[in-house]
Amino acid sequence: MQPADRCTRLAPSPTGPLHVGNACTFLVTWALARRLGWRVLLRIEDLDRDRARAAGGRGVAEQLAWLGIDYDGEPVSQSTRLAAYERAMAVLASQGLVFESPHSRAEVREAAAALSAPHADDAPVAFPATLRPATGPAWGFARRDVNHRMRMDPGIEHVDDRVAGTHGFDPARTDGDVITWTKAGWPSYQLAVSVDDAAQGVTDVVRGEDLLHSAAIQARIHRALGFAPPRWWHLPLVLDGEGRRLAKRRGSLSLDALHGAGVDPARVRGLVAWWAGAIGEPAPVDAARLPALLDEPILRAWHARTRSAPNTVDERALAWLHGS
Ligand code: GLU
Repeated sequence: MQPADRCTRLAPSPTGPLHVGNACTFLVTWALARRLGWRVLLRIEDLDRDRARAAGGRGVAEQLAWLGIDYDGEPVSQSTRLAAYERAMAVLASQGLVFESPHSRAEVREAAAALSAPHADDAPVAFPATLRPATGPAWGFARRDVNHRMRMDPGIEHVDDRVAGTHGFDPARTDGDVITWTKAGWPSYQLAVSVDDAAQGVTDVVRGEDLLHSAAIQARIHRALGFAPPRWWHLPLVLDGEGRRLAKRRGSLSLDALHGAGVDPARVRGLVAWWAGAIGEPAPVDAARLPALLDEPILRAWHARTRSAPNTVDERALAWLHGS
């Protein structure tokens, strides 16, 4: 495949302000793509419309521009693509892969507990095959106002990740049958992201490694829809000063807050380049220079290092961002 046939995407969910962790993922995705000559798409993942509306703040495109990130073509919003998701559900239904699942969380938990050791109250449980409906009209996609799940048969799915290495997951054990359509009348994240990556010709998915195990589920959805799964590049996450994942609600680390405080985006890029091990000390980095600093071996070494030394927005990082 020629570099120009390769394509990646930035896929923000406008459910809260973008933060330094998002900036890290987007800057690295963009720099890698520009270095390797791939196209970069912007896809707004706004299916969770109630939360998307509540987000407010400057538009994603403005925040990307502030970081020095450009993209190719017009942004696409998932909320405009319902017909494509419905068609995909019909394809899955025609293979007998999806069924109506009106089960409450408590029912799923109870049925799962009957099969295995009890889980902590808030730990996610895999949807057990015992809750599948009997063969009949509940298998299919006739209604839009009921949750639907896709059958996940047992079997290891190998995710051959360019950054994180090869990992085996069995979605039947980790998730059980996964929701593909929600009773709110729109698809789940897993379905929508797979349909869009395939439809938009995305060959290389670069994103945070919290989604590594989702790649196993998405690979199955891709294949069921008749597409080859993309290549995966899962990047290290950024943690806050207490070692927790940066949640979108942590306002002071939002890009809007940093922008408002007069932070120079060259310092954000410098922090990311330093985290990734592309420069020895934080230093301001021009956007034009970032692609030359990041390549596949650097990303792999970065991933390995973060197993024992995660990227943290600690006092030192904050002092750097604010120019001291
Ligand atoms: N929209 C997702 C998020 O913001 C990213 C989905 C993806 O990259 O696959 O977490």
